Amino acid sequence: MSNSAIEIVRTVADLRTRISAWRAAGDRIGLIPTMGSLHEGHFSLVAASRAVTDRTCATLFVNPKQFGPNEDFETYPRDEKTDAAALGARGADLLYIPDRDEIYPDGFATAVTVAGIGDKLEGVFRPGFFTGVATVVAKLLLQAAPDDAFFGEKDFQQLCVVRRLTQDLNIPVEIHGCAIVREADGLALSSRNAYLSAPERAIAPTLQQALISFRDKLQDGVAVGDAAEQAREIVLAAGFAKIDYLSLYDPTTFEEAGDLTPGARILAAAWLGTTRLIDNIPAQI
Ligand code: AMP
Repeated sequence: MSNSAIEIVRTVADLRTRISAWRAAGDRIGLIPTMGSLHEGHFSLVAASRAVTDRTCATLFVNPKQFGPNEDFETYPRDEKTDAAALGARGADLLYIPDRDEIYPDGFATAVTVAGIGDKLEGVFRPGFFTGVATVVAKLLLQAAPDDAFFGEKDFQQLCVVRRLTQDLNIPVEIHGCAIVREADGLALSSRNAYLSAPERAIAPTLQQALISFRDKLQDGVAVGDAAEQAREIVLAAGFAKIDYLSLYDPTTFEEAGDLTPGARILAAAWLGTTRLIDNIPAQI
């Protein structure tokens, strides 16, 4: 771990100047888009980038286009100084913190929409979310032009949307999916975990436990519908208020899967009080 202060750039011009210099030197460049409020999940992406690239650039932008009108854009946790210091300590080389006008200047009129997978699950419960994500990720990839970009499996459907958009738009970047980092009790790390009250925090790991129980039941030959129902019961009995979705899904279509096809994924979103948690695990170990 190095302790050097990280360089911060705030404009696409400065970002490109810095990245062009690295490219001219023959460096391989990794990009890590984030919304800040960084934790070990984000830092695992820094480690993944440092393992395969010469230079790691993180971005910090709380993207207004991926928040719905009743979501937490205004209250989303922001702590630029702490994030910058932590990234420097983890050996990231550059932090791009554009302001809103740098990403969406007056007259901005373009949207990137990934049809099909972008319309399922999160796309149903958070209308416009994936268009917001795809638009900003496309922009960040075109602004930074990295060789590699790193995304967490925590947002599994988002990772698949990003893969699709880079293929469809011929953006020359290798997309890396990185394993979910969890707390010791199994709760997937998330910036939004900060919203949980102490009693809610104690309940939260039940979501992953229900997914594991679901997987175990499938391995034992229980039908998908029955196993899903039992997992939902576990979540609700623990004190979750509502489940948006919890089942087995085909990893290419994000349609509900009737049986254990290769790559099938158990995905869930559920509400604990006013906090919405998502999690997922592979259906096969
Ligand atoms: P966010 O700041 O929430 O937009 O997340 C930025 C990136 O970090 C996304 O690619 C996320 O999937 C990834 N990420 C967030 N939480 C985790 C986690 N617990 N484990 C691994 N990656 C994560």
